[in-house]
Amino acid sequence: MKFSDYNISPLIKDQLEELGLRKPTDIQFKAIKHILDGEDVMAVAQTGTGKTAAFVIPVLDSLERKRHKGYSGIRCLVMVPTRELAKQIAGVFRDIGKRTSVKTFGLYGGVEQEQQIRTLNNGIDVLVTTPGRMFDLISQGHLDITKLEFLVLDEADLMLDLGFMKDIEDVLKHIPKKRQTLFFTATITKKIKSLAYSVVREAIRIQISPKNPVAKNIDHAVAFVEMDDKRFFLENILKEYDDRKFIVFARTKVRVERIVAAMERVGVKTEAMHGGIEQKDRFAIFDRFRGGENNVLITTDVAARGIDIPTMDYVINYDLPDDPENYVHRCGRTGRGNRRGQAMSFCSPDEIPLLSAIEEYTGEEIDQYEISKDDYREILFGTDEGGYNWKRLIEKDNKENGTEDEW
Ligand code: AMP
Repeated sequence: MKFSDYNISPLIKDQLEELGLRKPTDIQFKAIKHILDGEDVMAVAQTGTGKTAAFVIPVLDSLERKRHKGYSGIRCLVMVPTRELAKQIAGVFRDIGKRTSVKTFGLYGGVEQEQQIRTLNNGIDVLVTTPGRMFDLISQGHLDITKLEFLVLDEADLMLDLGFMKDIEDVLKHIPKKRQTLFFTATITKKIKSLAYSVVREAIRIQISPKNPVAKNIDHAVAFVEMDDKRFFLENILKEYDDRKFIVFARTKVRVERIVAAMERVGVKTEAMHGGIEQKDRFAIFDRFRGGENNVLITTDVAARGIDIPTMDYVINYDLPDDPENYVHRCGRTGRGNRRGQAMSFCSPDEIPLLSAIEEYTGEEIDQYEISKDDYREILFGTDEGGYNWKRLIEKDNKENGTEDEW
């Protein structure tokens, strides 16, 4: 089945064609027809499966077909856990809905409120938002969600983890009972189920690859590397594949900054992303990464979820995550939609229990990337003249700047 066979507005079909989206992904195939039929949907699907377009396409179609004369309030509210995700999903609505008359706005805190109010006053159909700023604007009378037709909760599990339960309950008090609700979560727990059943009605349930939460079109490998040697392996890979796009995950802000500094010293351009970076700078960093001005992002788990960069070639787990679920979210940054992606993890002896936990969680053993002793030594000391001195230089630098453990 192709998008051209669907009973959706030609304005959307033509745009999907222009964006190069021809065949629905699994989640789209399973969800779109039910949403078009007006049913509630509760879907367990990870990012990277095409779940955003799975709700964006039918919602746009419905909003475009059924215009209400004289009503300028919000018709679809999409609640998401993070600002980055709000910005990204609003972008998908705008891209796919480019030829339609549907107006979308991504609303979040950390930016001036006045400009946001002006945009809202001009009439918005789809509001994609994090809870905080939305409630500010509702209480100030700038936002009307009393007549909405669609409520979408995306990454609902992360919303619960971040403590947004009360906000979701408050939204439910403001919106009509008669509405269509679309509920998306990457993982399913008792708490998520009970939240889901409190918002949906007779929902169609969809689950994408329940046994194996790791997206199928990603090749996974693990290299056993000593903690202190990781930076040399990273340098080696980044130099070898300098035309590719990488996202590199490390455990802490300090480690992220140190990796960026170490790569700079050896002439590899990277940028840091972590919770200590201001919102406006974060957007600029993501824009540079997306646009190809920078092709290596070194980050903590702040960028593990939601962020969609379709051309991402590699995910590197410089440090293994403490929570196996985060392994799945991190790896979901590559292999987007129908593309293939690669995930490489550096595992130090201390991290072997974390590796076992990940394998148990995903139910799959990760292939070992074999490195011979000679190759290991070559990567460490380099074949270039001065390679060894360079290593000593960094070690000296680290000793001056703090302990090795902080890496
Ligand atoms: P998501 O899971 O919504 O974050 O989407 C992941 C990626 O899949 C995005 O880069 C989309 O552009 C891409 N994508 C979504 N639907 C399709 C499709 N039908 N065919 C190919 N790529 C798609």
